[in-house]
Amino acid sequence: MTKRNGGYCNLCGRSQSEVNILMQGINGYICDGCINQAYQMLNEIVPNTDIKNKKKFSLSKNELPNPKEIKNFLDQYVIGQEAAKRYLSVSVYNHYKRLLQKKDTNDVEIEKSNIIMVGSTGTGKTLLAKTIARFLKVPFAIVDATVLTEAGYVGEDIESILSRLLQVADYKVEEAERGIVFIDEIDKIARKGDNPSITRDVSGEGVQQGLLKLLEGSVVNVPPQGGRKHPEQKYIAVDTKNILFICGGAFDGIEKKIAQRLNTQVVGYAAAENYKKINTGNLLQYIAPQDLKSFGLIPEIIGRLPILTYLEPLDRNALRNILTEPKNSIIKQYMKMFAMDNIQLNIDEATLEYIVDKAIEFKLGARGLRSITEDIMIDAMFELPGTGQKTLHIDLDYAKEKIEKSESKHSVA
Ligand code: ADP
Repeated sequence: MTKRNGGYCNLCGRSQSEVNILMQGINGYICDGCINQAYQMLNEIVPNTDIKNKKKFSLSKNELPNPKEIKNFLDQYVIGQEAAKRYLSVSVYNHYKRLLQKKDTNDVEIEKSNIIMVGSTGTGKTLLAKTIARFLKVPFAIVDATVLTEAGYVGEDIESILSRLLQVADYKVEEAERGIVFIDEIDKIARKGDNPSITRDVSGEGVQQGLLKLLEGSVVNVPPQGGRKHPEQKYIAVDTKNILFICGGAFDGIEKKIAQRLNTQVVGYAAAENYKKINTGNLLQYIAPQDLKSFGLIPEIIGRLPILTYLEPLDRNALRNILTEPKNSIIKQYMKMFAMDNIQLNIDEATLEYIVDKAIEFKLGARGLRSITEDIMIDAMFELPGTGQKTLHIDLDYAKEKIEKSESKHSVA
């Protein structure tokens, strides 16, 4: 509670008229000047007493969530993708354990296991990464590998990957050194051809060599603001030994490499029998490190990403669930938006099925669900606020009419 009239600060004795704010306690008052001074003293005595960030990344053994708890959390936001969720949960759990291990013993040292997730675009790789970030007690950054190029070329230096992590950790190097980095579109730095000498491969193998240093664990000089390093700039030295790297990529066309490998392995009668059991509808589940090599990742990088997992293509059922099941599903978000205008939104099951059909028809996958729903809702979102209408019922005819109106837009996509 603050006091505007009468009263004196019990620390400095100044009256209400001499200060901006007098805060009232049980037996007296304190002014804004004294609060400020006390805060500065606290910062001098206990460095980094930045109250906002103080507890953010601290972690104790009791708080350690086990892999099942981590997966349960992921389940609330991400539909399906069992394999990827299990691998991710275990890796994050082990990462925590590594951070908690005592440093000065001659004990077995737990080494980190970076992860690589392979799955078509729009199947939930970034969503998994973002969801796990909500849960984590360590700094977490998402970066995109497409902008990376070899030093000296247009693009960003490899070290800029860590700039983002430093920013998230408020430039506290020690915190950043315990963090997790999600590198999206890792497939974009695959070697372009088998013979690198024909054309200069500035965003391919050279970048992989640079990335290798980060994955292996070394002290690197990071440009604090990211981008390209330049001579006058001050760098921050960051040790990547304890940073966990999670990589994701669509690896378009890798199914062919998997099929080739599986085919060449089929020799003899017993093997032919085994081949019959292979589900050719989802070859990604058989992905192995050698497929990443055939795709153009160098063996050293693959060696530093020992956990390899995949995301499944989203079938009709998964798309239908994505609409309504996750904790912040698209439909729940629209319901909330209308509820804020005191409008209750009802959507027929047939409408939901129709949205899924359209997403499949337009080949937009999960990404399309939102834009299609948006097209159905946009007129109502414009017209209804302020009219006093209390309910909005969206049946199949209404949805069809709105989509047909905007069909030309989608057919271009
Ligand atoms: P990726 O990184 O694999 O290309 P994203 O994670 O960016 O794909 O997914 C795009 C959008 O599609 C997400 O924001 C989310 O709304 C939806 N989505 C994709 N996969 C799932 C899933 N498995 N569960 C829930 N939503 C999903």
